[in-house]
Amino acid sequence: MAAEVAGKSPESVETDRLAARLAREITGDVLFDRFSRGRYATDASFYQIVPSGVVVPKTMDEALRALAIARGEGVKVTPRGGGTSQCGQTVNDGLVVDLSKHLNRILSLDVEGRTCVVEPGIVLDDLNRQLRKHGLWFPVDVSTASRATIGGMAGNNSCGGRSLRYGTMRDNTLSMEAALADGTLSRFGEVSHDLSDLDASESVRPLFRDMLELGAREAEEIAARFPKVQRRVGGYNLDALVPRNARNNMAHLLVGSEGTLAFTTKVELKLWPVIRNKALGVCHFGSFYEAMDAAQHLVKLKPIAVELVDRTMLALGRDIAMFKPIINAAIKGDPDAVLVVEFAEDDQADNLVRLKQLSELMGDLGFGWNNEPRKWGGVVEITEPALQGGIADFRAAGLNVMMSMKQEGKPVSFVEDCAVPLPHLADYTARLNEVFAKHGTSGTMYAHASEGCLHVRPVLNLKLEKDVKAMRAIAEEAFALVREYKGSHSGEHGDGLVRSEFHETMFGERLVADFKEVKQRFDPEGVLNPGKIVDAPKMDDRSLFRFKPDYRVGELTTKLDWSAYPGAGVGFQGAVEMCNNNGACRKLEGGVMCPSYRATRNEKDVTRGRANTLRLAISGQLGPDALSSDEMMETLKLCVSCKACRHECPTGVDMAKMKIEVLAARAASHGLTLRDRLVGYLPRYAGLAARFAPLANLRNRSPLLRKLFERFAGISARRALPAFRSDVFVPPAGSVGPESGREVVLFADTFNRIYERENLDAALRVLTAGGYRVHLPQPVSGSRPLCCGRTFLSAGLVDEAKAELDRLVAAFAPFAARGVPIVGLEPSCLLTLRDELASLRKDNDAKAVGAHALTFEEFLVREAEAGRLQLPLRVVADKAMVHGHCHQKSFGAFKPVEQVLRLVPGLELETIESSCCGMAGAFGYGADTYDASIEMAELSLLPAVRRADQNTLVVADGTSCRHQIHDGTKREALHVARVLAMSLDRAEGNSTSTAAKETSHG
Ligand SMILES: Cc1cc2nc3c(=O)[nH]c(=O)nc-3n(C[C@H](O)[C@H](O)[C@H](O)COP(=O)(O)OP(=O)(O)OC[C@H]3O[C@@H](n4cnc5c(N)ncnc54)[C@H](O)[C@@H]3O)c2cc1C
Ligand code: SF4
Ligand code: SF4
Repeated sequence: MAAEVAGKSPESVETDRLAARLAREITGDVLFDRFSRGRYATDASFYQIVPSGVVVPKTMDEALRALAIARGEGVKVTPRGGGTSQCGQTVNDGLVVDLSKHLNRILSLDVEGRTCVVEPGIVLDDLNRQLRKHGLWFPVDVSTASRATIGGMAGNNSCGGRSLRYGTMRDNTLSMEAALADGTLSRFGEVSHDLSDLDASESVRPLFRDMLELGAREAEEIAARFPKVQRRVGGYNLDALVPRNARNNMAHLLVGSEGTLAFTTKVELKLWPVIRNKALGVCHFGSFYEAMDAAQHLVKLKPIAVELVDRTMLALGRDIAMFKPIINAAIKGDPDAVLVVEFAEDDQADNLVRLKQLSELMGDLGFGWNNEPRKWGGVVEITEPALQGGIADFRAAGLNVMMSMKQEGKPVSFVEDCAVPLPHLADYTARLNEVFAKHGTSGTMYAHASEGCLHVRPVLNLKLEKDVKAMRAIAEEAFALVREYKGSHSGEHGDGLVRSEFHETMFGERLVADFKEVKQRFDPEGVLNPGKIVDAPKMDDRSLFRFKPDYRVGELTTKLDWSAYPGAGVGFQGAVEMCNNNGACRKLEGGVMCPSYRATRNEKDVTRGRANTLRLAISGQLGPDALSSDEMMETLKLCVSCKACRHECPTGVDMAKMKIEVLAARAASHGLTLRDRLVGYLPRYAGLAARFAPLANLRNRSPLLRKLFERFAGISARRALPAFRSDVFVPPAGSVGPESGREVVLFADTFNRIYERENLDAALRVLTAGGYRVHLPQPVSGSRPLCCGRTFLSAGLVDEAKAELDRLVAAFAPFAARGVPIVGLEPSCLLTLRDELASLRKDNDAKAVGAHALTFEEFLVREAEAGRLQLPLRVVADKAMVHGHCHQKSFGAFKPVEQVLRLVPGLELETIESSCCGMAGAFGYGADTYDASIEMAELSLLPAVRRADQNTLVVADGTSCRHQIHDGTKREALHVARVLAMSLDRAEGNSTSTAAKETSHG
């Protein structure tokens, strides 16, 4: 792909020259436009510094060329991985080099020797997926494993929850290859103290010599001032230079240096055997203090982790249906806090012995189930893997709920990972709470208790000067406590802009002078990520904040309801600002979010990039009318509105809903394109087109018409449009099914009505066979059939969508008022009634319709669970592969699909681990989005379907999904309603609809 330079910044001649040179010499993306630079101005901290440009190199040679060019132009360079740093490590005003897109391979693997060499951009989960088949893993299991890169983890000296056994990143880094700021490429690994094993010609030799001399010179000071806790990741690792053993590992000086000393090109890692067996002991305590105090004793049993969960988190978990049974199984009584103690010896018998010892130890510490009110407690033993997994999921989700506060004040990360020696953990926590209270705030706590590392984020509104002052005061007082306890003010997340300023307080003047000497010796011109670790600005310098003192959002006209959030646009501002850049949307596997990122790996195409762009646009940082600009349309172009972010983003960023606002703003300012009209108004002309189906379908048959449609309507010539047919579904006059049957409304959506009436016929067949009285309500006025307005929403025609929903509510509300369920087949249409309808209407009729709307499968599961569903189902096939529609997954409506399919006798079920199918309404038909659509489908869905043999049923409830599957594999996928109808046919001896006939089209 040719280098891309869009909208060069006019700010400086140097920047222009830099951009031009990079564009000439780099084949990867060179991004100097305002929108792209804005997307790289933040990480998971509260800072924002706009870089002069961004390079996404395709090869390491290109990365190093970018470094050389930038240095030649006098521009700083900041290497970047996933950009998930919490302390502002990756924000700077020079050139950002993003290594995550292309430089992410395992370069070599030694299974026997348990080592590997990787490029720095590889994501931890990705690495571990590749290692698993060899029985190995890299165990620095940071919570951000789904997007944190090894380069970034080394940069921050990251730590996992199990660091008690495995140590930190430093302990697991064997060597590194890195370029100094002047481009010298060197190996940093073990050397003898006298450097006798280093070739005399090695250019790095004088540097190593100076560093080792510094280590020897400062040994005493280092011993005196470096905290003696494992979780010390602040400052440079000068202790790695002290001549303690015969050899020193020079890579350990680079680990934790936050991109300020050298540019890492390769990392050699130590690997470990995967954990095969586990046992958990959930230790209960009547008070938080007792739990914190007990940690120092429990670690003596050598668990691999001791994690603290407090009362607030337990309460949050109990409120979530899926976690309630887990908490019920794992938690006894009403503890104030629990410590989850994890044992993971190879032999499960050893783990069970330790569990027993854990109970004894708790007893020895005086805890007992009958000791009310003091020293109440004991151990609940958990050996079942499913429950162990459930507890891990619950911990992650509990944190997410805490992070999703909608108010202006948010949990802010700045003292969030201090670590103190275990005997002081309880006192430190208690005193920290007093500090928070003194400054009028509080914070929910969780902890890697085994390492004395306490996670806590006090709630503050950093848009207010008074809260910024409180933050500074809390930081100073908290760090004073940490110092008093000889702890570490940076126990996991690094220094960046938040903590570097405090190094002098924590390490003393002399060691800070040493840090400066190291930086000066490595990077005398200050090219590499300056302002971190040494020479840092004040942590509360508001000019560096995301919300600077002049941050304002002007009045906004919005169409949907955002009132749950604060700010302009009746809350739209608050919803946009919910993104805290934690990067969960950059995950590459599992769940659905974010399919466009998975396909392109561009920051522009991920939920985070979009949310940041929106925030910058509404606050005027991207120029006038940025919200409806071409660049904004480009930013949202590949968003397939799958709603996965709404469900999977820890803070609930709902980009699909935000995209509707942007499209509405665009339609208002620029009018509609022909494609928008064709898509949006489909429900209005579909009836007519069906009447003249052969004519309407001409486009599919004529290559010339295909080309013309592509040219003038932007519809890809490579796609066949769904074919109109003359035998559309016409709802029967009156209701069907036994008169005395339980009532149900069947919503005949536009897609199934016009294109795939078989699904509606099948649903009617199933419901009536189940003894239900099925109503298909007609519009109260006018003859045009009912519609949910989905196509209008996808074109930004919100008023038209509302008009459709008004008609639908008028027809359905009387049934909803009587408690009759409203069942739909097309997930995106039915779920519009639970989602967008609530955003457009707040009246009781609309609420009742939303409250009674159920997918076909949700309804059947509900009926089956109530013992009301009797269907004489028979075997139809041995196996079905099922693909879930994104909206089903987003609304927790996919599990019922699996449950219903399991009702069919003898049907083995395989759920395809897929994200969005990539078709997503009109998205897959766009000439400009066709390729991305196919890429998304090829990530997992289409390869999985191709694996299915001809007798396996392929099941997908979404119209778009079925089309994509057909286009990509020539297999006909079925709606669940049709599988059930086939199964009923079998029960009645009707053998015409065999599985093979139904599935092996083309
Ligand atoms: C919700 C949340 C949970 C977290 N949980 C944990 C946790 O459990 N444990 C933990 O330790 N951290 C945690 N973090 C912090 C962060 O995720 C980790 O530090 C992570 O390892 C950073 O990886 P990254 O790829 O995002 O690095 P980035 O943020 O992109 O970069 C980190 C640093 O490394 C430097 N760097 C990147 N690549 C290179 C290179 N090639 N050469 C030289 N320098 C380079 C950067 O300049 C920067 O200074 C968490 C963060 C969040 C938001
Ligand atoms: S969109 Fe959500 S998941 Fe992505 S970075 Fe923002 S808050 Fe995190
Ligand atoms: S709606 Fe889907 S494609 Fe769009 S940002 Fe969210 S997860 Fe990504």
